[in-house]
Amino acid sequence: MQCPHCGAEVGVFSREMRRWGRIKACPSCGLAVRVGFSPLIIGLGILGAGVLGWFKADLALPHLWFSVALGLYMGGVIYFAYRLRKAE
Ligand SMILES: [Zn+2]
Repeated sequence: MQCPHCGAEVGVFSREMRRWGRIKACPSCGLAVRVGFSPLIIGLGILGAGVLGWFKADLALPHLWFSVALGLYMGGVIYFAYRLRKAE
């Protein structure tokens, strides 16, 4: 993720990002940032999950494996949808 103030790369799992609450401080410049999700990527992710569900019968995967794959997929979507915004 990129800090909206200084452009520094902030790790999703860095100490600062694991702190409780939605308003956090950038470890690089110290200004307030808010964690949010990109609605576009979430929308695309849900669309992709729908497509995955559509092909479920053709994949012939055991139900458990399909659930695991879908879980990993949604985790990836959320990871990429993670955005930092300026907290006013
Ligand atoms: Zn910063």
